[in-house]
Amino acid sequence: MALIHQSYPAPVALLLSVTPMVLPTFGAVLCLWFRKSNPVFCFLISMALFYFGDDASLTQIAAGYMLIPIFWMIFTISEERGILNPTGFSKGLSLLSCGLIIATLGYPANDLGIFANLWIDLHYAIQWRPSWGGWMPLPAPALGSFALATLVLTVKVIRKHRPMDLGYLGGLVALFGAALKHGEPSASLIFISLASLLLVLGLFQESHRMAFLDELTSIPGRRALLADMKKLGRHYSLAMVDIDFFKKFNDTHGHDVGDQVLRMVSSRLSQTGGGSRAYRYGGEEFTLLFPGKSIDEALDYLEDVRERIQDTIFVIRGTDRPQKKPSNSKKKITRKRPEGKQTKVTISIGLSERTDKQEEPSDVMKKADRALYKAKDKGRNCVITK
Ligand code: GH3
Ligand code: MG
Ligand code: MG
Repeated sequence: MALIHQSYPAPVALLLSVTPMVLPTFGAVLCLWFRKSNPVFCFLISMALFYFGDDASLTQIAAGYMLIPIFWMIFTISEERGILNPTGFSKGLSLLSCGLIIATLGYPANDLGIFANLWIDLHYAIQWRPSWGGWMPLPAPALGSFALATLVLTVKVIRKHRPMDLGYLGGLVALFGAALKHGEPSASLIFISLASLLLVLGLFQESHRMAFLDELTSIPGRRALLADMKKLGRHYSLAMVDIDFFKKFNDTHGHDVGDQVLRMVSSRLSQTGGGSRAYRYGGEEFTLLFPGKSIDEALDYLEDVRERIQDTIFVIRGTDRPQKKPSNSKKKITRKRPEGKQTKVTISIGLSERTDKQEEPSDVMKKADRALYKAKDKGRNCVITK
């Protein structure tokens, strides 16, 4: 990589020259710790960029910035399958071949005999800008692949809400900055470091999400509940919620449909209101915390959510049922398929609050649990207070 601008004070120059290597190395180690493989390849791209461009030709630079966003995008959307296996090796090999393609593009055309013109055309194509494209900061192919990768990653961020994807998207935008500032050593190094930094932040956020959010329902899990219970003030109420006859539901409709019901119930409970927060306690049991609320204040919200869940119609589609209606209506008559069956679930709730007897949150939870047992005894689908 080119030398850092002479005018920087020595410590800044040192920082600028080491961070583009130190950050991705640190990130790659974190990935091993968090059992993530795809970001490792992105960190490798970031490291490779550090050395890229000192004596590269215009075609090689254009090819680099055309291929990098595509590889970045592929690593982002492909499944996490580890590194030391055939999938990991093929990802590594594809990255290596990307480097080889860029290196090969430095080969002089006059040594290629009859292929010389073809070679020159290829170089021209990689650096192509349309006649109206004077505003383009990069050749059209590079700009196109940055645009495509940004679009794909933005859609993924919007659909999945995962912090790691935000890190990948931020990293890609930073690489675009590096591409725009190519040839200005300190500016491009800052952008390359920024790409790694955003990935590292994404990794931390993702590990936090994995630790505190329940995988199936995406609401906070028991670890988050225990952490939040320590922060409760003197006044709060706590509800334990349990789905009624859920074992029978699973036995009748299957575990997958049961999982869908768990997601539906979690989403309804998260919308309970009254400043409450819902947690998946475990299995088909949930906890609701109402900070600053008494039993009387929380009760109406709980009755509301209980009724909303009781009134939610759940349609079960047969496994061999088509997702879309067949366009040919005759087919519909001749083929017999099980119709979507409608079903409902109910929940029972035990509610308790902290009294002035200096109770610990775990005591309040035990009271709520006892109230929940009473709700089951009373015939289920009700709220009992203690
Ligand atoms: P009750 O009304 O007394 O609560 O009866 P129940 O059948 O709901 O209670 P029980 O404790 O006997 O059964 C709980 C069931 O919840 C058993 C288990 O199969 C199911 N379950 C627990 N976790 C999951 C999960 O993650 N997915 C699915 N589909 N089912 C789960
Ligand atoms: Mg239970
Ligand atoms: Mg149950």
